[in-house]
Amino acid sequence: MMARIRVRYAPSPTGYLHAGGARSCLFNWLFARHHGGTFILRIEDTDRTRFYKSSLSDIVESLRWLGLDWDEGPEVGGPCGPYFQSERLPLYQKYARELIASGHAYRCYCSAERLKSLREGQRAATPAQNTDAASSHIGYDRHCRELTASQRAELESSGIVPVVRLKVPLDGQTAFHDLIRGRIAIQNEQMDDFVLLKSDGFPTYHLANVVDDHAMEISHIMRADEWIPSTPRHVIMYNAFGWTPPLYAHLPVILSPTGQGKMSKRKLVGTDGREYNVRIREFRSAGYLPEALFNFLALVGWSYDDKTEMLTREQAVEAFDLDHVSRSPAKFSYDKLDWMNGMYIRQLEVNDLAGRLHPFFNAAGVDIDMETVQRMTPLIRERMVKLTDCVALTDFFFVDELHYDPQLLIQKGMTSDQSRRVLSESEALLRETEFVEAALEPPLRAKAEELGLKARQFFGTLRIAITGREVAPPLFGTMEILGREKVLARIATARALLQ
Ligand code: GLU
Repeated sequence: MMARIRVRYAPSPTGYLHAGGARSCLFNWLFARHHGGTFILRIEDTDRTRFYKSSLSDIVESLRWLGLDWDEGPEVGGPCGPYFQSERLPLYQKYARELIASGHAYRCYCSAERLKSLREGQRAATPAQNTDAASSHIGYDRHCRELTASQRAELESSGIVPVVRLKVPLDGQTAFHDLIRGRIAIQNEQMDDFVLLKSDGFPTYHLANVVDDHAMEISHIMRADEWIPSTPRHVIMYNAFGWTPPLYAHLPVILSPTGQGKMSKRKLVGTDGREYNVRIREFRSAGYLPEALFNFLALVGWSYDDKTEMLTREQAVEAFDLDHVSRSPAKFSYDKLDWMNGMYIRQLEVNDLAGRLHPFFNAAGVDIDMETVQRMTPLIRERMVKLTDCVALTDFFFVDELHYDPQLLIQKGMTSDQSRRVLSESEALLRETEFVEAALEPPLRAKAEELGLKARQFFGTLRIAITGREVAPPLFGTMEILGREKVLARIATARALLQ
């Protein structure tokens, strides 16, 4: 039987939320929701040198935008708070003392200079061709591990503030079972006595992470596989405390679209110059829908079945399981994301979509009221990939003057005389026709026939005259929005161009 499911996403606010972080968060969220468990957001902000405030608000905003709500954490509180590690220092200090008392940790008084020269010496002694870090014995030499009480007292009295290090077993191995990868083991001699508590009283990631996962009763840890090397260290700590470790599931690495290993946390540029968004805020401002990104990220390393791509949040929650999380590196296909985004755009109600487009018009400096956006939306949504596309797809509505090659007014198989007639007859007709989509179409079609022209030719000429483009949104709806005055003026201009 499964114990109470409690999972967490534990970002360090050292940068903006990126796709990899969001994917880890999403898997934890799906797992919690699937099992009716609890999803916790914990901020691992003990590295004060790398902390920055805008990163924290970015993480919170981006998660909310994606719809990844948390049951415990910042802004919502909960029984295991505070959820900021920087507010939990006494707890870590207490546990560090406990490990010292039980003989599992010790105070280390080595100076920064000593550690530096130790590292340099080790590096120099490591043969260049030896890339196996394990056999190169880089790490702390355990100088303070066996100090006597009087040696310690002497060092204390000289005013040195020690750090606390874990006594890693000198031999044997530490193993854990990963729910995705199976058994993972490491020789203890490959790990050094790493620091738990720094001299300023702040814990390292290892101490704070283990203490909090225990204190918050985390049942499963799902995190990126770059954390695998940390896990045996954590298991040693759990054993030292006499606690049962949570279950581990390390998520597959996400491959870079540029084909150079792992996806980075910063904007990527391919060899062809194509730019790839990586941060959630970039996807957002580029006009991706949160629904699409959610669906897409759910499938980065997890599969619903072997064919389904479009799935609702409910379907994903219903189906999510670790059995279908892959062990092999996951692709992040930007083309698929674009396709999916277009699909989601077309699934939205017109007014919903219009409401999401409006800010993008404003951001591009297009002064447009909501009602007009609502009228334009059905005309452009078929051709949209991203919300930002609305600006380019509609720019001809707003310009005073269209720029196009007048030759385009003479469609294939037409003479310039015929084109002139299309324009002049349409002009006459449009002076008296009611300017609504449904009323515009029949008389214009009849006119095309009367002139013995194909619809493609007749409307091709009109489309160029009215929009300046060969490919444009549906013509009658476009004319209705432009209004009689503008349409007639553009036709008049086109006639002049043909003279
Ligand atoms: N603070 C770590 C991070 O930034 C958490 C890793 C973990 O989930 O244990 O990813």
